[in-house]
Formats: sequence, C-alpha cells, structure tokens
Amino acid sequence: MKRGARILSLFMLCLLVLPMGSCRAAAAPAGEYTRFSRRVFDIFDTEITLMGYAASQEAFDRATDHTVDQLRELNQIFDGYNAYGDLHNLWYVNEHAAQAPVEVPDVFYSLLVWCRDQWRAGFRATNIAMGSVLKIWHDYRTAGLDQPALAQLPPFDVLTDAAQHTDFENLVLDDEKHTVFYADPQLRLDLGAVAKGYAADLVLPDLMAAMPSFLISLGGNVYAGNAPLDGRANWNVGVQDPQADPVQVALGGTDILDVLAVHDLTVVTSGDYWRYYVVDGKKYHHIIDPETLMPSTKMISVSVVCESSLLADYLSTTLFILPYEDGLQLVEQLDGVEAMWVEPDGTVRISSGMGQYSRNFSTFQ
Ligand code: ADP
Ligand code: MG
Repeated sequence: MKRGARILSLFMLCLLVLPMGSCRAAAAPAGEYTRFSRRVFDIFDTEITLMGYAASQEAFDRATDHTVDQLRELNQIFDGYNAYGDLHNLWYVNEHAAQAPVEVPDVFYSLLVWCRDQWRAGFRATNIAMGSVLKIWHDYRTAGLDQPALAQLPPFDVLTDAAQHTDFENLVLDDEKHTVFYADPQLRLDLGAVAKGYAADLVLPDLMAAMPSFLISLGGNVYAGNAPLDGRANWNVGVQDPQADPVQVALGGTDILDVLAVHDLTVVTSGDYWRYYVVDGKKYHHIIDPETLMPSTKMISVSVVCESSLLADYLSTTLFILPYEDGLQLVEQLDGVEAMWVEPDGTVRISSGMGQYSRNFSTFQ
C-alpha cells in the first residue's frame, strides 16, 4: 500500500477511536486520566500508533518511549535486510545458518518453535521457510515499484527452482542451545507473516502495567486493551474496505468496510492492498500461495479477532491463502478466534461468532 493511502487509513482509525477527531491529547472524563496518542513511522516498515490513558503527557511519553524502544529492538531482530553490529538477527541467520548453527536471541528462537509447531500440526499455507521464493517476489516487486514501466513477473522456472528449498524440516532447531541451522544451504526464512503480531504480543505486558487502557496498531495489526475510559464498552477498530475507490475516498467517501467493537482483543488484517506492484495493468500483491507460487487470488482481505496477535497475524495470512471452506473449518475449531473474509467479488463472509464484534455483518451463513 502506498504511503498516502496508509496515512489515510490511519486517519480513519484515529477518527474511529478518537471522538474528538484529534490524534493528540483528547480529554477523557475519567478523573485523573487523559487520552494521548503518538505515531512512529520508522519501525517494521509500517506506521505504528500508540494510544492510551495516562495521568500526564510525561507518563504517557515514558510508557510509550519504552514500548517504542522494545519495538525498535524487535524490528532489528526480525529484520531480514539489514545487519546490526554482531546481532544474530534474521539477516544474519539467513547469511550464516547454512555454514554452521547460529545461536539466536530467545524471542527469535521461541517464534521459530511456535511456527514449527504449526507446520508439524499440518498447517502449511503460511510457511516461514519459504524465504527463497518470497525473496524473488520481493526483489521483482521492489524493482517494479522503482521502475513501473519495466515491471516484470518472476520467471516461473526461477520460482519453481526456489520452491525446492522450502522444507521446514530442513530448519534444524536445537532446543538446548537455541541455535538455528539450515540443513538445506538454499533455505531462507521470511518472518513477514508473523513478526508484527508477535512483536505486539511481546510489548503488551508492559503497556498493560503502565496504562489503564490503551490501543496499539502496527500497520494492520491492532491490539485493543481494556475498554477506553470515556464510558464506551469497547474500542472501535476500522476494517479497511479492500475495494475502496481512492477517488471517492478523496472526495470524502469512506474506505471503511466495517467497524469491530473490541477490548482485550487483537484485530489483524491481511489484504491485497498493503503491498503490491502492477505488471501489464494487473496487481500482484505480497501474499504467496505455496501451491501456485503466485499471489493468492482467493481473497482480497481477511481479518482475524482473537487474544493473541501472533496467532491472529499467522491466521490472517493463512486464511488469505486457504479456500474459504477450509479456513472456516480451521477457525471454528479454534476457541476464541473469529474471522471475516472478503472475496474478490466483494462478498463478505464471517465466522459463527464474528457478529458479536461487527457493526455491519451479523449473519453467519
Ligand atoms: P502484512 O505484512 O502486510 O501485515 P501478512 O501478515 O499477511 O501481511 O504477511 C505478508 C508477508 O508474509 C509478506 O510480505 C511475506 O514477507 C510473507 N509471506 C507471504 N506469503 C507467505 C506465505 N505463504 N508463508 C509465509 N510467509 C509469507
Ligand atoms: Mg500475517
């Protein structure tokens, strides 16, 4: 998604969660607490919004400075494109883990174990060991965005060659030493499908301790804490309309498909409008179906509501790739997980319990 459009959607989020329409210091009628917010643009390659109630601007700044520091550190650990001194981050692992086992920070190791557990349980649409294929798409997309007139699709034989090196079982994890080794030298990890959700979960405990109520948004990953202190029972989180017409939006139309009323829950959306490039007039987005090695075409947006942002992030990518029936079956098996799918023709489907959060969609068919 282009920056202008991202800011627009953030603006809508602010409108939805701030009754005053301002992103700064709206007074709350909750005694000693006032609502504050801030935005950060240079972490996780997305915009981050922090909103919360604090006794003073100073207290809010202190709490959120700490969160921003934590997020910055996590961003470095999960950065696949840059080195940070001798930090054994994702980039370092991808560069070195085929030569010898690399010891990684505990938070990194735990995420790999969590993803391995999903893989071993048979969930394979989201495969973090698919980095070799995803890097090719990333490079073609980046080149196509730099020079749109020359944008090209990756040659299919290059993708199929890379797909030979995506077996999760070649990622050798040592639970004692917390090391990672690539038994296949061409294996590469890509954590784009899960890192932001995981990071949100990791910063929650300190935010909860520091503020009576808050909301954090990392791009399409939102966690809404305790109910806001302005008398409402829930935070309102906007779900962007994946088919919103930018011209209509610029003229004052809405780009919001739905509003989800939640507290102590996460809302994570994967959409075809976040990151894409155009080849011969056709849009190619960033969520790749491991079966076809092409951008998945079954959905244009999937939102997941549950307690864990990591699970929601993982599931939003997974449900984006799976056929609706398979995704629904998966969601209905999971306690406390609900989802909303938007298909390419605009059809919206919801899981059996999604209606309790949704303003516009209450019927489960
Ligand atoms: P966003 O990053 O926009 O929030 P997602 O959470 O759906 O969206 O993650 C998309 C990212 O996940 C891609 O940019 C890519 O790095 C990675 N990815 C894409 N397809 C897959 C896949 N099938 N399995 C694992 N990771 C994927
Ligand atoms: Mg995801």
